[in-house]
Amino acid sequence: MSDYLIDVSEILKSEGLSKNLKDEVELEPLEFREEVLQLKHVTLSLNLTNVGLGILVKGNLTGILLAQCNRCLAEFEHEINIKLDELFKKNLKEQEEDLAVTDNKINLGPIIDQSIILGIPIKLLCRDDCKGLCARCGKNLNRETCQCKQAPIDVRWDKLKEYFKKG
Ligand SMILES: [Zn+2]
Ligand SMILES: [Zn+2]
Repeated sequence: MSDYLIDVSEILKSEGLSKNLKDEVELEPLEFREEVLQLKHVTLSLNLTNVGLGILVKGNLTGILLAQCNRCLAEFEHEINIKLDELFKKNLKEQEEDLAVTDNKINLGPIIDQSIILGIPIKLLCRDDCKGLCARCGKNLNRETCQCKQAPIDVRWDKLKEYFKKG
């Protein structure tokens, strides 16, 4: 998990103060479904406001996730664009929660990691119509066509179908 600390001491001085922040961050690779995912060009564009109770962080996170296609296994770049809307509370007695203002700082790291992971689609596909790999020869059908397709369908199945029809 990466740490990403922001000093909010200036805006903590008074309710209503806010500041904008734009930053490109280096994140450690994320562990996800037994894979290690690399990220690049992760950019935060945020507005931080002192809302009395704490610091409200709103904005978005964009970047590129280097992923492997679930269908054809090719590496590809999956664009991420995630909205952030989180409240970091002041004076949290218990430090169990990640979202606390601690020593005039907030740590966005856990939220960033969590948001990226939650934003990953169930199926990561290099493109919506990815043709995948040929089940027989293993060729990537996005790049080439193989001969397997033209192979006649096993006739025994037809015989079997006929058999069942008769029955
Ligand atoms: Zn694919
Ligand atoms: Zn094939």
